[in-house]
Parts: sequence; C-alpha cells; structure tokens
Amino acid sequence: MIRLDHITLTFPDGESRITAVDNVSLTAHPGTVTGITGPSGSGKSSLLAVAATLIRPDSGKVMIDEIEASTLSLDEATALRREKIGIVFQQSNLIPSLTAREQLCAMNELGARGSRKRRAKAADRADELLAAVGLASQADKRPHQLSGGQRQRVNIARALMNDPSVLLVDEPTSALDQDRGEQIIQLILDLTDQLDTATMLVTHDLVHLPQMHSVVELVDGKLAQADLVPVH
Ligand code: ADP
Ligand code: MG
Repeated sequence: MIRLDHITLTFPDGESRITAVDNVSLTAHPGTVTGITGPSGSGKSSLLAVAATLIRPDSGKVMIDEIEASTLSLDEATALRREKIGIVFQQSNLIPSLTAREQLCAMNELGARGSRKRRAKAADRADELLAAVGLASQADKRPHQLSGGQRQRVNIARALMNDPSVLLVDEPTSALDQDRGEQIIQLILDLTDQLDTATMLVTHDLVHLPQMHSVVELVDGKLAQADLVPVH
C-alpha cells in the first residue's frame, strides 16, 4: 500500500518558489490502479517522484506499507525503493548494450548484498517476467532491436524484478500509438491484479481512465473534483 498524506512540494523559481504539489492526499491499495490525470505542468510527475521517495516533499508524509519514507536516511530510502517500489518513467532508459534479459538481471546487481548468490534465481525471474509482458521470444534482443512498445514492456518488467508492493508509472503510452498504448495500459492492469501491487498510473490520455479503479485529477498541483472524470 502507498499513502500520500498532505504532500506539498515547491521548487525554487527565481526570487520565489513555485508550488508543484499543493496539499495532496492519496492512497493506492494492493491490486488496484489509481489513475492520476491533469494538464501538462499540473504536478503529476512531481507527485510521482515524491511517492517514489526520489524527492523529499516540503511537508507531508509518504507511507509505504506502514513505513514512513520521509523519516528515512538517504541510504534507507534507497533500500526501501529497491525492495518495495517499482518505477516506470516515461522514457524507458534501457541500457543500449544489454539484452532484455540482462536489463532485468542488472536490477539484481544494484547494491544489494548477496547478489551473486541470487544470480540464477534472478535469471529465472527475468524470464518469467518477460513472458508475463509478452516478450518471451525477445529475451536476447537489445533495445535497438525492439519496437517502442516492446521497450516499454521491458521497462515495466524491469520495474517488477524486485517484486515491489508499489508500482509507479509515469505516462507509459505517450510515445505509442493508440492501440499499443491501450495494450500497455491493459498490461499494467493485469500485472497489478496478478502481482497485487498498489499502482499509481499517470496519464493525460482520458481514454484510458474508465478502466482504472479510481482516478484523481490534478490542477495547478491541487486535487480537483474526482467526479469530473468518468469512471465505471
Ligand atoms: P506534469 O507532470 O503534470 O506535467 P510536473 O510535475 O512535471 O507536471 O511539473 C509541475 C510544475 O513544477 C511545473 O510548473 C514545472 O515547471 C515545475 N517543476 C517540475 N520539476 C521541476 C524542477 N526540477 N525544478 C523546478 N521546477 C520544476
Ligand atoms: Mg509529467
């Protein structure tokens, strides 16, 4: 579970400061996708970066499975991210020289102790996840051999390598056409259900919103009336 409690985040802006996130509270439960929408510049990515513990808010709390992230040291926050949070950014940031399988296995080598012992297991997990995102036969391909949609699938599989309880996804369809975008959203919904992640999914594309479990809209950093957005 992830709970954002009265989050405010400002950035320096010349002499004054700009409020990117303004007193936002939001909870995502396991097995559900919470859509976050709103116009460009409304604070969606900033809110996600706070949720990911990548930026510390000016005020407010981030609770990840009952751990208060805002009180952790930088090292502790890094460990928390590694263990509990999967992050999918807009750009896939795949490493050009690595195959799809290696991109996922590299997650196992990042700082955690005992990574060598877990190598064989990590390779199995990587293959399992690549199959789950529909790329079983592409495991040995490098990014330049994959389409945009396939790269985004690798990106999503990589975020799930450490079995996170929280999955944070920023505009995963922005570089894709309508059909491929739809498939990526469906994949995130399915994986959330299968892996029981508490998922927050940023999108400004209204067509995807009806499928999500709940939707909030940000306007100028503030939560707007959620019922402005149609949800089944
Ligand atoms: P969105 O993802 O909804 O497009 P952002 O969270 O990227 O919105 O941006 C919200 C506001 O915060 C914008 O006014 C943006 O210019 C500002 N902002 C975002 N990141 C930074 C930063 N690192 N430094 C200064 N201002 C920023
Ligand atoms: Mg953004």
